This record gives sequence, structure tokens and C-alpha cells, in this order.
Amino acid sequence: MSIWKLVEYFFLPELRRYGKFTHIKEQDFILPETKEIGLYLHIPFCRSLCPYCPYDRILLENTLSEHYTNAVIKEIELIKNKVGKVEITSFYIGGGTPTTIGKNLEKIVTKIKDEFLLKENTIFIETNPNDITEEKMAMLKDLGTGMVSIGVQSFQNKFLRAIGRNYDAQTAMNAIEIVKKYINNINIDLMFVLPEQSEKDFEYDLKKAIEAEAQQVTGYPLFTFPYSQVGKFLKINSVKLPSFNSRKRMFYLMYDVLTENEFVPASVWGFKKPDGAEFSSVSRMYYIGLGASAATKVPGKFYMNTFSIPHYIERINSGECAEVVKMDYTKRMDDYYWLYWKIYETRFQKSEFKKRLHSDKKARLLIKILEAGNFIKIKGTHYILTRKGMFYVHLLQNQVALNHIGKAWGKMMQDPEPHEIHL
Ligand code: SF4
Repeated sequence: MSIWKLVEYFFLPELRRYGKFTHIKEQDFILPETKEIGLYLHIPFCRSLCPYCPYDRILLENTLSEHYTNAVIKEIELIKNKVGKVEITSFYIGGGTPTTIGKNLEKIVTKIKDEFLLKENTIFIETNPNDITEEKMAMLKDLGTGMVSIGVQSFQNKFLRAIGRNYDAQTAMNAIEIVKKYINNINIDLMFVLPEQSEKDFEYDLKKAIEAEAQQVTGYPLFTFPYSQVGKFLKINSVKLPSFNSRKRMFYLMYDVLTENEFVPASVWGFKKPDGAEFSSVSRMYYIGLGASAATKVPGKFYMNTFSIPHYIERINSGECAEVVKMDYTKRMDDYYWLYWKIYETRFQKSEFKKRLHSDKKARLLIKILEAGNFIKIKGTHYILTRKGMFYVHLLQNQVALNHIGKAWGKMMQDPEPHEIHL
């Protein structure tokens, strides 16, 4: 049985039966009581637009970014009125390139601190080499940022050019040094399966990231992104992607180089130093998304904010929530959602699995198959993904992103308030 057949058998029937987003009104946006939440903030501005990028982002415009900041501040108040002054255990700021809005970021984080109980060192922020300055990093340090993630992608000019990044390798190295002067806890994002990239090329990039003293390294294959966009991009530039086998070898190379250098898996894409904190938004069971295109997952529900930036601002200014569609989750879907993201994080407790899914025959069978196929193994109190398991789950994550998340995102990009989206 191929891995895709397994996925179809275990995960898709439920998703096909219930996997539908429907349009909601303000009164349908309900947040259950909780003591703590994870928070995701989307800042959609970038200094230049990469041709393969599927995210909800636009070129930085100062007036629009002011309006956007004011809307986010109002959205924070709206959320606070619904959940109260709860504790924030993880605050992930993504985009776009969040640091492009400069001082406005300070206003937003200050507002979060006023309205919620933000635990120390829980801010994780994404940025790009072309947006890093001493002033911005000093500000992030003062705000109590726990980790800065730098989208380097490659330390070689030919690959940066090939994927349309508008900085060179030296700028990336200088940017890393600036960040480290203020926040000595960095993630470096690298891309592999780039046009004409060899394993040696990728190994060079991995070693550069280690030399730069990254606490975390995350490696994404280029075709994590929707095929159509990547396809169009390759056609325009008339280049070829490395083969599937080469992708597999590159993934194993990343695993081997990083684990030999004292990194441990943190997700199917990421490796961290053993004592490094876990920063993630999507794998939390209760997280709230702020900003255009952000998502919110709470028990029994999954909501998505409008993707249109002007519409987001308009809705918030008229006192409405930004959430425009929701999907209802059965208890079983919630438990499978938990399992899916725990597998993505490469480990989960046996006792938690037992509590949630032991009475579910299909889930028990899934674990048996994963064990028999050497995709997972038991280590003490946990199930742990093996090296082989990580490769196949990263492919699976790719497939889910392209076929399901990509489908919903595609609709949301076209329509600010879709009536219905079927997965
Ligand atoms: S910098 Fe990041 S978010 Fe912005 S266009 Fe490039 S890949 Fe997309």
C-alpha cells in the first residue's frame, strides 16, 4: 500500500464527509473558554515579491501598513473581549516579512502585552536578510523576542538569483551577524530541490548555517509551494528541478548533517539544538490568528480570516470580526488533527494517544502500520518518527498543503468572503 493510499484511507473519508468551510456571521465566531492560547499574527508586507511564493502578501506600502496596524490593534481588543486576559504560551509573527512595518510592530506587541499575559521569550518572528537593521533588531530585543527566523534560503548567489531573491550571500551573512548581536537565538530557513541544485550545493548551505551558529535550521523543498506557481516560474526561467530521488537524498543529507552536529528533529522540516524552545503556531490545539489570512483553531472549530487586506481593514473598522469562514470539527476530527500535527512534530506521548484514540480501531491500525514499516518507533514514553518516517511525512505534508490547504487558500485569495469551500 502506498503512503498516499494510507493517507486516503485514514484521513480523507472524514475530511471528505465533513471538510467544508461555510461563510459565517459575527455571532458564529465563538471561542470556547480557556486559560491559555497560542497566537499567530500575519503581517502581509514584503520589500519584494518572490515569484514562487503562495502566501498572502503584497509590496510594502506605508499608508496601508499604518491602516493595517490600527486594524490589528482593534482585532486584539475584539479577541480579548471574547477570551479575556488569558496567558499566551507562544506568539508567532509570520508573513510576509513582519519586520517591514518597523515601529508599528512595537505598537502591536505592546498592545498584546497590555491585553494578555505574554509569557517571556515566547515571541518568534520571521524576517528576511534584506529587511534586517540594527535598529529593528534592538527593538525586537526590547520587546522580548525569543527567536528570530531568517529566510536565507541559500548562501550561494546563483541559487538566490534562480529563485528571485533580491539580496546576495554576503548580505545574508551580514544580516545574521546583526541579528546575533541582539538576539542570539536564530532559525535559518534554507530551501532545497532548487533548480539545478546538487547535493553538494545543499550540503554547503547546511554547513554555512551551522557555522553561523543557528539554534534551529529549517529546510523546505521548493515544491512545497503550489505546482502551478512553481511550474510557471520554471517555465519562464527554463530550468529543471532535481529528480524525486535527488529530493530524497537531499532530505536524508539534511537529517544526517544536522543530527551529526547535535541538532534534533523539531518537525518534519526543522531541526533544533536539544535545549532550544519549541516555536510553532499550527501544531497547537488552541490558537488564535490575527490579521488577513490568519487561521484560528479551537476545539470543534477551524476559522479563517478574510485574505483580502482592504476587506480585513474594512471589517475590523466596522466592528466585525475578521473570521469569514468556519469548518466544524467532530471530536474524531479533532483527535486526528491532534495526531496529524503530533506526527508532524515527529513525536507524541503514548499515553496521550491512548487517551484520545485508543478506542479508534483505524488509529490503532495506523500506528501498527507505521511501526511495522519503520516509520515510527517507541522510545520510552513516546512514539518517535524515524529518519525514513520523517521523509515520508514531509512528502505527506507537502501533499496536504498542495491538495487541501492550497485549495482552500486558492478560493480565499479570489474571494474576500466565500460562501462555501469544499475540500
Ligand atoms: S519574502 Fe517570503 S513572504 Fe515575501 S514574497 Fe518572498 S517568500 Fe513570500
